[in-house]
Amino acid sequence: MKLSEKFNGKSCILSFEVFPPKKNMEDSTIFDTLKSFKALDPAFISVTYGAGGTGGDNITQKICSHIQDMGIDTAAHLTCVSNTKSDIIAILDDLKAHDITNILALRGDINPERPPKHDFEYASDLITFIKEYDSSFAISAGCYPECHPDCDSLDEDIAHLRHKVDCGAEHLMSQLFFDNSLFYTFLDKARAKGINVPIEAGIMPVVNKKQIERMVSMCGASLPPKFTKMMARYENRPDSLREAGIAYAIDQIIDLISSGVDGIHLYTMNNSYVAEKITSTVKELL
Ligand code: FAD
Repeated sequence: MKLSEKFNGKSCILSFEVFPPKKNMEDSTIFDTLKSFKALDPAFISVTYGAGGTGGDNITQKICSHIQDMGIDTAAHLTCVSNTKSDIIAILDDLKAHDITNILALRGDINPERPPKHDFEYASDLITFIKEYDSSFAISAGCYPECHPDCDSLDEDIAHLRHKVDCGAEHLMSQLFFDNSLFYTFLDKARAKGINVPIEAGIMPVVNKKQIERMVSMCGASLPPKFTKMMARYENRPDSLREAGIAYAIDQIIDLISSGVDGIHLYTMNNSYVAEKITSTVKELL
């Protein structure tokens, strides 16, 4: 099913994100994790490309295929800065051969050690290319409640976001954030710019201190005092930090649901304990 259709008649959906194993798939716990996720009945599970795993060996497609075989809808992330047009065609053909129709089309981060290939400059170029190659693919795109780090202003970033929607993105998933008020400001601005597709709010529960520091330094999410106080109090007590992080995420999610957001995209970090705790609390509230 196309992800944009998931929102028909639903007041709010809950979706999950996983990343491929860094090493050998056969040795990994990803399949057990996915089995436990099935019991939580997410609207869909998306699988990252390159960021967490290797990106090579069609690993994103393989995990998406497995998710689909389990009877769960899925979306394959796909980045374009490090790919040529023929690389992208090979990936699209592979996805098509496995009946995977949902793609989260992204630019990818610019890595100075791996110069871009120049066939695609922005995610919008990838979206246009995919739609021209095979219009049956359903495209989602990323959005940034606090402005993408490469852009000078939120207004400009939202104008670029509008362009992605005009090129064919039917659904948006947001970068993680810890301050809901920033998401609401972004949402108001995006709607005022005529962006009318469903927008899911990206929520990342704190699993451990290192992980959250790495993610925040990569994406530049701002940390409200409520969050930093929690980190400071529990930083040397990993189990307490995890429980406080789960409670913080649940608090954010309940506020988002109450405010009428289209969906919550949970960055699960492949952690079934955390996903289970959050889902069991918020599922009845959607
Ligand atoms: P774009 O939409 O192309 O935007 C990138 C920058 O260019 C922005 O600052 C934008 O304002 C600007 N821009 C866009 N169009 C123009 C234009 N015409 N003129 C001038 N400036 C323009 N990364 C991975 O490697 N793998 C993943 O699996 C992955 N999953 C993600 C999932 C989500 C939900 C999100 C939000 C991000 C994910 N990322 C992933 C990170 C993403 O690749 C980076 O944030 C990347 O830097 C930007 O990607 P984008 O698709 O948003 O880029």
